[in-house]
Amino acid sequence: MTYKSVNPYTNETFNEYQNASSKEIESALQMAADLAHTWESESRSKRAEILHTVANQLRAQKSSMAEIMTQEMGKLIGESEEEVSLCASIADYFADHADEFLEPTEIETTGASANVLKQALGPILACEPWNFPLYQVMRIFAPNFMVGNPVILKHASIVPGSARKIAQIVEEVGAPEGSLMNLFLDYDQIGEIIADPRITGVALTGSERGGKEVAKAAGENLKKSTLELGGNDAFIVLEDVDKDVLYEVAPAARLANTGQTCTASKRFIVLDSLYNDFIKQLTKAFSQVKMGDPMNRDTTLAPMSSEKAKTKLQKQVDEAVAAGATVVYGNQSVDLDGQFFMPTILTDITSENPIFDQELFGPVATVYRVHSEKEAIELANNSQYGLGSVVMSSDLKHAEKVASQIKAGMTFVNHGWTSLPELPFGGVRNSGYGRELSKQGMLTFVNEHLIYTVEK
Ligand code: NAP
Repeated sequence: MTYKSVNPYTNETFNEYQNASSKEIESALQMAADLAHTWESESRSKRAEILHTVANQLRAQKSSMAEIMTQEMGKLIGESEEEVSLCASIADYFADHADEFLEPTEIETTGASANVLKQALGPILACEPWNFPLYQVMRIFAPNFMVGNPVILKHASIVPGSARKIAQIVEEVGAPEGSLMNLFLDYDQIGEIIADPRITGVALTGSERGGKEVAKAAGENLKKSTLELGGNDAFIVLEDVDKDVLYEVAPAARLANTGQTCTASKRFIVLDSLYNDFIKQLTKAFSQVKMGDPMNRDTTLAPMSSEKAKTKLQKQVDEAVAAGATVVYGNQSVDLDGQFFMPTILTDITSENPIFDQELFGPVATVYRVHSEKEAIELANNSQYGLGSVVMSSDLKHAEKVASQIKAGMTFVNHGWTSLPELPFGGVRNSGYGRELSKQGMLTFVNEHLIYTVEK
């Protein structure tokens, strides 16, 4: 049995789930295909109403939804609640904007009329990670529900209770059966589903390991895919930064969600003159966190999501130190039973260090000293990844100029990473391809169907 709910604060296993049977998979695929067919001749307005009800239901069930997420992957209860609120706004956003985004586009041409219709592609598979158990699902479900693409969900094996609850909420509000179907699948079953002719595309958010396998299966079967993968996001501190803003933004940019965010700032790149002060202030902030029960609202740093995640991070830090990195703060064991990792600051990381271009998925910051803005930009771009990034400067034009030179899908100026329904989310290089959320995200699994008409 691979699908298990294990509380990373108590280490208690509180639920286990059987994998889906072949019969259940076949039934889900057929239900998805039938529903896609029904939706082809139905207006979107009914689905908009249902999606608003999903949003309201999420708000009504905020506590119970947030609780299961915190129990399964350990995030602070306040963070879980914020995630539920954000997801309700994502549902509302796509319900409100679908007609506008899916409006046919007229193209100017000579001697004919040309229009591009935005039509549903059909059922899709969504493979999602555990770090934002509800948000990752809503990014795919809400736009595709409005487009008319039923979604089969394969959620991460450590958040099965959250996966079930999300599907239940969608069902409870009266969405047609098959709109969002949660299946506990193994990797072979994922391959079989992607190969099935009734599936038209696959979206994966997760690691490169999972991304490569799923993209390979999609390629072999000529299915459209999107990959939202990891990052090694740079946080550039320019000399004209407002220090109050800097020290408010920097610690949270690394530690929110216990550092387990794809767009968390992982490499802090600081100009010479500010370097010592930055290290001092980051150390101060990291030493003030309060680790403990994520259900307790006084706790400010939650455990990591699982023993596996903590062990992997510790191995990376050990390798970094063995290769010459300096531990400025942290990297000591925490006297609590859960999967806690002490916030840690590493410096002196050379380009030969094994972690130089690895994603550290937890509360570990690496800090680099640079001597010029050019060097800062070059270091930021010296990565296999290109997901997010942050530029800190009180001169906004200056910051935006630097931001435009970073090879990433998203750059935030004077603000840590953020996600809102209207903002496109995604990366370049090994951080993946495609975008989720916003109009761009909604058009991913859409047939942009050209109708070219000549009057004769
Ligand atoms: P993961 O191990 O790749 O898992 C993601 C999903 O893919 C899970 O449902 C997982 O199932 C499945 N999966 C994993 N390996 C697979 C394979 N070989 N074949 C088919 N499916 C496979 O990633 P994770 O550790 O859960 O998530 C953390 C990663 O996600 C980080 O790298 C983070 O940066 C990235 N992330 C990216 C974004 C973004 O938008 N760019 C957002 C959030 C997270 P199992 O759980 O059953 O293994």
